[in-house]
Amino acid sequence: MGGAVDMLTKDRAICVRVVDYSETSQVVTLFGRLSGKIRAIAKGSKRPKSAFDGPIEPLSFGDIVFSGTDKDKLATLTEFQPQAVRGELRRNLAALQSALFAAELLDLLTEEYDPHIELFDHVLRFLQDIEEGKAGPDRRDIMIRLILFQFVLLHEVGLRPILNACANCQRPCGAHGRESYFSAAANGLVCRDCEMSFPDKIRLSPKAAHCLTDIKRLAQADQATLDEIEQVLIHHFTHILGRPPKLAKHVFTA
Ligand SMILES: [Zn+2]
Repeated sequence: MGGAVDMLTKDRAICVRVVDYSETSQVVTLFGRLSGKIRAIAKGSKRPKSAFDGPIEPLSFGDIVFSGTDKDKLATLTEFQPQAVRGELRRNLAALQSALFAAELLDLLTEEYDPHIELFDHVLRFLQDIEEGKAGPDRRDIMIRLILFQFVLLHEVGLRPILNACANCQRPCGAHGRESYFSAAANGLVCRDCEMSFPDKIRLSPKAAHCLTDIKRLAQADQATLDEIEQVLIHHFTHILGRPPKLAKHVFTA
């Protein structure tokens, strides 16, 4: 409405994407705890003195104030006081690449103004654990957290794959010693009797299949099994999105 003052909304948010808008401003995609995904312009954010303590960076998180909650228009970010990212996310390339990949998936799989509080809390803990070095310095600990995040994301957005039985015939599948597969088209594990119907299937190692049927086993999995499960997840996201996530390739090379 012309002349009406937009309501200000307060929330806590994680920045998942930043695009330059002009010499001085950025368009940011934020994932708000109570608001869900928000696309907003941060006017003057690239000026040395602004309301935002300098340019806004992906993976920064903190309290925000914004106006406008219209899906078809950019909101206006009026305040954002992020905690500085100075820990492992600055020092450890594997940590940074994993967190940026998680942010990309969050952006791609959530809708604007569709809040997921549990997902927000999970992502924030994931970022903080990595940033504070709780995930440990090695790639394995980070990979375990990244995989768990992806299962939480899939569950929260209603795309959780079927992993407790064959997604096609519902018979037990994935136990030790039995051949099993994952098919994104079937949305989950596929048994030996059904695999022929799913050309996109990936054959799973017994260890990976065992882990997928009970995610708690991830904590004991070796690096090769974790890498295999991550490949399966990327295959799954590629199927869902119709293209591979851009940052997927960096997850293994860092
Ligand atoms: Zn089957």
